[in-house]
Amino acid sequence: MQDIAQDAASAPDRVDVADATHRRVFGEAPAGMWSAPGRVNLIGEHTDYNEGLVLPIALPQRTTAACTPRRDRLLRVHSVQAGETVEVDLATVGASPPRGWVSYVAGVLWALAEEGLPVRGLDATVVSDVPLGAGLSSSAALECAVGAAASDLFGLGLLSDDAARARLAKACVRAENEVAGAMTGGMDQSASLLCRPGHALLLDCRSGETAHVPFDLAAHDLVLLVTDTRASHALNDGQYESRRRASEAAAAALGVRSLREVDPERLPAALVELADSGHRSHPADPADPGDDELVRRARHVVTEIGRVRAAVRALERDDLDEVGHLFDASHASLRDDYEVSCPELDVSVEVARSAGALGARMTGGGFGGSSIAILPTRSAGPAASAIADAFAEHGWTAPRSFVVTPSGAARRDA
Ligand code: ADP
Ligand code: MG
Repeated sequence: MQDIAQDAASAPDRVDVADATHRRVFGEAPAGMWSAPGRVNLIGEHTDYNEGLVLPIALPQRTTAACTPRRDRLLRVHSVQAGETVEVDLATVGASPPRGWVSYVAGVLWALAEEGLPVRGLDATVVSDVPLGAGLSSSAALECAVGAAASDLFGLGLLSDDAARARLAKACVRAENEVAGAMTGGMDQSASLLCRPGHALLLDCRSGETAHVPFDLAAHDLVLLVTDTRASHALNDGQYESRRRASEAAAAALGVRSLREVDPERLPAALVELADSGHRSHPADPADPGDDELVRRARHVVTEIGRVRAAVRALERDDLDEVGHLFDASHASLRDDYEVSCPELDVSVEVARSAGALGARMTGGGFGGSSIAILPTRSAGPAASAIADAFAEHGWTAPRSFVVTPSGAARRDA
């Protein structure tokens, strides 16, 4: 049977490795250790940049940052995963952003300084058990671990309450958008800084309001199985941007600020209006699929926001069967209307269902990355094995499956 990793089995290792590596690389003990989790979004995909709703949980997998403050504005950071130490003069970040993984780290310190906060350089060692590039937000875990360290070491107070944490999340988003150059929405950083153990985080990406929704599968003898398909996800090749642009174009054609403003009750009428507006702007080219494309993209976004609301209501009344149905509907919408799934995601979802899942869906941006399934506890191992077998039959890279429980946000560990 496939070995499915249990929660945070590697947490003590991570702290020990960070400590020992920091001493070796920088020649002194770190001043402290901070960590921040990756996240998995239960439902509400491609809704964040449409000012919609998302419902992530924090993963037990985290990134640990062992840090020592510096007196100058030099950042020296060693990543165990990258296997290298990189130096960046923080004074140069604005004019010439560094490239590669260090951009996430330098970006956070830059963004905090842009806010007028008294940030200096750091010696930092980072080590993570969040899989990189699996759609589980290792990038936000990295930003938020370093952001948490900077907050404490420079007395910024950005971990003190949810409002302060939301401010730190904004700085981490700026790092990712403006320095690392990844145009993601704000879900990942909010999840990494605001989630609570045993709860999902309902985040309204229009107002910034949050609510903690109990998410306790164990009480039902169920588990959440995450499968990292290890298929390469190519959000940087323009697909993500093209979905963002389609969403904006659909909102503009409907005369609303964002697709969040479309009343789900009025969706059929709005879609007719959208199709008509498209035909008027491209009367000479009936073969142009753009009209239809916008209709399908808008339908995904509006119905997906509705599914987040429905999932929250179902969780509040402990109706996990309904949550499962909503997972299934979300996957179909992402596959057929938003067209961001891929064969590996579709197979992992279908096999999980055959193995007894109450529901399963792709999660994250798509084109690879991870899927999630709600399964009876005893079915999780067999489901993971069945998914691995199906991948082997297709000749695909072996996937990695693990059971997760909702964990806590960024914090100081030592
Ligand atoms: P995801 O956030 O879903 O894992 P991204 O493409 O957004 O995928 O972010 C992955 C990138 O973040 C990596 O390619 C790397 O540049 C950076 N990264 C994240 N964690 C680490 C780490 N521990 N060490 C070095 N780089 C990291
Ligand atoms: Mg990311």
